[in-house]
Amino acid sequence: MSESSVDRRNFLHMLGLGAGALGAGLAAPRVVAETENGHLVESESEYGGFLVEQLTDGRFPYQCDPDVIARMDDKFTIFSRNSWDPVRQESLRRQPNMTEVNLVEGEGKVPNQTRLDYALMSAAWRYSGIGDAYAWTGSVARMSGPALLRGGAWDPADLDMTWEEASMAVKHAALFFGASLAGVAIANPLWIYGTSYSPSRDDRQRTIPVHIEGERLERTPEAWYVPESMNRFISLAFEEDYWAIANSPGRLASAATGSGYSRMAITASTLAEFIRSLGYRAIPAGNGFGLSIPIAVDAGLGEVGRLGLLTTPRFGPRVRLAKVLTDMPLVPDVPISFGVAEFCDKCMLCADQCPSGAITSGDRTWEGTSRSNNPGTHKWYVEGAKCYDFNGFSCSNCKRCCPFNKPNNSWLHRLTRSIVKGRIKPLDNMMVTLDQGSGYGRQVEASEFWKMDGSASITAREKM
Ligand code: SF4
Ligand code: SF4
Repeated sequence: MSESSVDRRNFLHMLGLGAGALGAGLAAPRVVAETENGHLVESESEYGGFLVEQLTDGRFPYQCDPDVIARMDDKFTIFSRNSWDPVRQESLRRQPNMTEVNLVEGEGKVPNQTRLDYALMSAAWRYSGIGDAYAWTGSVARMSGPALLRGGAWDPADLDMTWEEASMAVKHAALFFGASLAGVAIANPLWIYGTSYSPSRDDRQRTIPVHIEGERLERTPEAWYVPESMNRFISLAFEEDYWAIANSPGRLASAATGSGYSRMAITASTLAEFIRSLGYRAIPAGNGFGLSIPIAVDAGLGEVGRLGLLTTPRFGPRVRLAKVLTDMPLVPDVPISFGVAEFCDKCMLCADQCPSGAITSGDRTWEGTSRSNNPGTHKWYVEGAKCYDFNGFSCSNCKRCCPFNKPNNSWLHRLTRSIVKGRIKPLDNMMVTLDQGSGYGRQVEASEFWKMDGSASITAREKM
């Protein structure tokens, strides 16, 4: 049993809440039936029409080996390794410069890699690395003056609100600032990096410890200090444009990714500022600080599929993730299960269509395949280095072809959902075949994308 499952059960027990008292997200899903582990719910707006099991008994839709799992070192993420690992650096040196190939040698006219496609990508990434987006302290009261913070930490009772309603309000703010999905989880320390990668001129491999203890909130050159009382994660998911991802491995897929990263930075930082304005502490983070995927699973946003990414009911794996750690005592959502792992047992589409061989077609394991994996969870491990090195990091084939990515507008997708719902395993393969036969999952040419009505972008996806 994972550490977090114990925490959650204790927390529910402390609150004296019945399992059914907690809901995920903003809408109130309709309860269809009770199950052994919780209840089945349906919500078009929340879960895209999927029948979802809310796991209200403290379980998680994954298993951890407590003897193996440990806090991961930031230094071993693929992004950090690119900066210090000689194996990675040699591999990166061998990569062709795709920008040169496409824009100079190809004169900006290579299909799916044109100057127009590159311009969208370049602009989309604009705010991904914005200055102090992920700062641990903010500039509270810039607009409102010190009066905003007078009276200390905000108490929802001042407005006749419960903490459950206050939690909904914070998630509402997250969507207001730009998130597509928001959920709350009790912070499992296992998902916070044990060390922060902090290279120096003399030591490219240098790391510093991340202490979770006491009440100190500070980043120093020697260590990071995170208060134990900051024990809630708000997990944020950002939908990526369906048609741009459909262009993968074309450059538009990277534009969708970049747009997600830019929105992550803006939304996580503004949400953190909102929380600080209410008198609580907040640490916003994109890929840094901890593992976004298990945090999102704990917060009830989805499950992990064969492709190694969070798979949400509404957008499938077509999301980017960020998070905010806070001491605001928000009411946690419950994890969900909607048949992703069982479906992935049969479906090999992402493994078949991964051009780099990063996704396995084998069974789930407890051990990773590279040093960038964190072993100890039973899942499909993906080789991040292979993925990173393919095509100048512009691939999203696995998202493009995944049946869970498909918008909720076709009878075939609804039927696939009902198969997931019923766990009618013998039919799963047939549905995948039918889905592909209908043309779904093919690459959409950038020239097609540019002729589309812009109202079919992510903000109007239900029209697709
Ligand atoms: S993004 Fe492309 S290369 Fe990476 S895992 Fe997915 S399909 Fe494979
Ligand atoms: S493509 Fe198939 S196997 Fe891969 S994550 Fe999606 S459902 Fe699972």
